[in-house]
Amino acid sequence: MIQGHEFSGEIQAVGEDVQAYTIGERVTLHPVISCGHCFYCLRGHVNMCLNRKTIGYDENGGFAEYVLIPRSMVESGSLVDIPDAISYDEAALTEPLGCTVNSIETCRLNVGASLLIVGAGPMGLMNLLVGRVAGAGKIIISEPNEKRLRLAEKLGADVLINPKEEDLVLRVKEETEGLGAEAAIVTIGIPHVIAETLKAIRKLGVVNLFAGCPVGSHMKLDPNLVHYNEMLVTGSQNGTLTQFKRGLNLLENRVVDLSTLITHRFPLEKGEEAFKKRISLEGLKPLLLP
Ligand SMILES: [Zn+2]
Repeated sequence: MIQGHEFSGEIQAVGEDVQAYTIGERVTLHPVISCGHCFYCLRGHVNMCLNRKTIGYDENGGFAEYVLIPRSMVESGSLVDIPDAISYDEAALTEPLGCTVNSIETCRLNVGASLLIVGAGPMGLMNLLVGRVAGAGKIIISEPNEKRLRLAEKLGADVLINPKEEDLVLRVKEETEGLGAEAAIVTIGIPHVIAETLKAIRKLGVVNLFAGCPVGSHMKLDPNLVHYNEMLVTGSQNGTLTQFKRGLNLLENRVVDLSTLITHRFPLEKGEEAFKKRISLEGLKPLLLP
């Protein structure tokens, strides 16, 4: 099984019946393989497809010189042209960017609203960039790794919190007239962090659980927190093809610049080193260049 669901490349060959694509086209792909006919597909929520498969998980993915794209993806238009203004490197990040378009949309941000982002890894930082574009007036980011926190500052975060040094809930309330943030996105899959975040949200607030937790996780939560405060607790995973294309629009028109997140580049044969960089938290998005 070859992994890799975030990638871009040039079409080297097409099947006999393929009409929508030609050799030499620069493309990136929305990696969801959906059935096109289930309840969710019919509503455009292909990421919720009941028969869903994903490139890089269920079918061979992008950590390779050549990738065979399944027929259904060709038919569904999941391969998307890369506009000339975007490099292959940046285009490879369209998929995670589309995921943040999804999470930001679920937050239903009002223009000028306060947004708390928990975690300043690559996904926290992308949520920061897209949250800003979506109109967040004050972005508060929480991250225990000081280096990543500084990067969040460079990318435009308004308030930086290191939860190892100060109380997350108290500080967020201080920064939001004692009310708590209007929306929050949790990009770390740790149940007690999610529970803590719920306390940092104001009444009528929205929380998006962006990161998955380990299988079998449980969370201790006072249900009255949600009930009496009329909170909206949402999740998001991956995104629709439309959200993927919106991500590409953000890149094409330089509304969002992801170049800072590409911290390393490795040839394919040094893939192991790329993973080590990522695991050590030294790298954000190391690229593999086959
Ligand atoms: Zn389906």
